[in-house]
Amino acid sequence: MSEKMLKFVDIGQQNPPKRDISNRKEDFDEIYQEFLKDRAVQQSSRCSQCGVPFCQVHCPLSNNIPDWLKLTAEGRYEEAYQLSQSTNNMPEVCGRICPQDRLCEGNCVIEQSGHGTVTIGSIEKYITEKAWENGWVKPIEINSEKNESVGIIGSGPAGLACGEQLRKKRIQGNYI
Ligand code: SF4
Repeated sequence: MSEKMLKFVDIGQQNPPKRDISNRKEDFDEIYQEFLKDRAVQQSSRCSQCGVPFCQVHCPLSNNIPDWLKLTAEGRYEEAYQLSQSTNNMPEVCGRICPQDRLCEGNCVIEQSGHGTVTIGSIEKYITEKAWENGWVKPIEINSEKNESVGIIGSGPAGLACGEQLRKKRIQGNYI
């Protein structure tokens, strides 16, 4: 176990700062600001690296949350992002609007023991923003397309995710 983890006893739960209401009334920007770098590392280190990670069990995507928290705590952001996006087509969206309080964060073991959940959503957003800033988000490159296509009805999150998964398999998705 990395010495960087299991800090939930010493480090309290902190979310990114909320923007002042007078500013928020003037625009449609996000309610919360970004985590500062050290804060994301610190908050990730609160994870207790559970043998049975209830955060992951209750994630509809079964995201490998404990491992990317550990990578973030070690400052290995690119690897954390790669792992996060390997099971999630839209981590930038999920980090913002997923109902974490009822899923990963609501079932986090240290939340259940009264220490306050690991702020998983904010950390997911942080590493994904880092990935966009640093050019780690790449288009899917394929050598050749198969001579097959699939019609996708609707272009909401499920339709877009379907298109990306088909692309990885070299199949063209046509939105209807
Ligand atoms: S349930 Fe909480 S403490 Fe356990 S691995 Fe997941 S984030 Fe870490």
